[in-house]
Amino acid sequence: MSNVVVIAEVVDGAVTKPTLELLTIARRIGEPIAVVFGTAGDAAAKLGEYGAAKVLEVADAACAEYLVAPKAEAVHQIVQANDPAAVLFPSSIESKEIAARVAVKLDSGLITDAVDVQADGTATQSVFAGGWSVTGKVTTGTPVITVKPNAADPEPAAAAGTVEAFTATISDAAKGAKVASEEPKAASGRPELTGAGIVVSGGRGTGGDFGPVEALADELGAAVGASRAAVDSGWYPHAYQVGQTGKTVSPQLYVAAGISGAIQHRAGMQTSKAVVAINKDEEAPIFEMSDLGIVGDLHTVLPAASEGVKQK
Ligand code: FAD
Repeated sequence: MSNVVVIAEVVDGAVTKPTLELLTIARRIGEPIAVVFGTAGDAAAKLGEYGAAKVLEVADAACAEYLVAPKAEAVHQIVQANDPAAVLFPSSIESKEIAARVAVKLDSGLITDAVDVQADGTATQSVFAGGWSVTGKVTTGTPVITVKPNAADPEPAAAAGTVEAFTATISDAAKGAKVASEEPKAASGRPELTGAGIVVSGGRGTGGDFGPVEALADELGAAVGASRAAVDSGWYPHAYQVGQTGKTVSPQLYVAAGISGAIQHRAGMQTSKAVVAINKDEEAPIFEMSDLGIVGDLHTVLPAASEGVKQK
């Protein structure tokens, strides 16, 4: 059976959900080899639980000290050593840059932001603000594919998860841009927006009070998002903006409260599996794409929804 290299994200010792999704997708293609930058520690067992036959630890300090280029060299060398059927990355900003560099080194085709990948490597992308689905397949070299969060439901499948150290040879040329500082964002205790299974977003209709939005998000264990109108008004930070010029989310459930449903907002959320919209205007365009529409004032509906979830 051919193998598939999966670049794993381990944050504070824990394997991220998009990584478990990647392993699930990788198993359609072959036997996953997970690559961890730094030390795998307890994460190795989790990676094995979700199908990683092997966990390669790349502990070279240059990968942590310098931006992207050393990691690209390391992944390139791993691909050369393992001859995989494909290389899968999560679709984060950093990973996409590394993936592009790896594809150039391999002289391979690259597909970014896939929302699905089939066993034969055919990948689906959602393009033109989500208006079109495109299926494509890499025809040159080892396919390099970055996959968006929530592209699959993570399914466990026990495998060995044998940890091996991989010693990469990092060139001086790759040590061109150093990490100056890394500042963790203030912890909200909520899941990361782009990978969250549930997102509750607020728009101009909140009138600047995100309290009810945050309260429902916390009851549901959801991330909070915002429309550009809310962000531009200074009501919520730009890091939480969903849409064409913000983040793209693809959760199981997207709750849009006080958001009209402009095309630029839809661009960031229309691959959500289910959409619930709360809007006091029954003609609001968001209702056209909603699985459940509630016509009402969000300041009444959201607290009632929070209370309902609390009672469960
Ligand atoms: P509005 O369109 O003003 O809608 C507010 C809604 O709230 C209305 O439907 C109203 O009926 C409802 N409402 C009011 N009060 C209540 C209440 N009490 N209870 C319930 N409902 C209520 N937008 C994004 O979101 N993300 C982007 O990334 C983005 N990128 C853009 C890029 C470009 C180049 C451009 C030109 C625009 C972009 N926009 C983006 C802006 C976009 O066009 C819309 O202006 C924006 O999405 C509107 O935000 P909104 O729905 O919160 O506000």
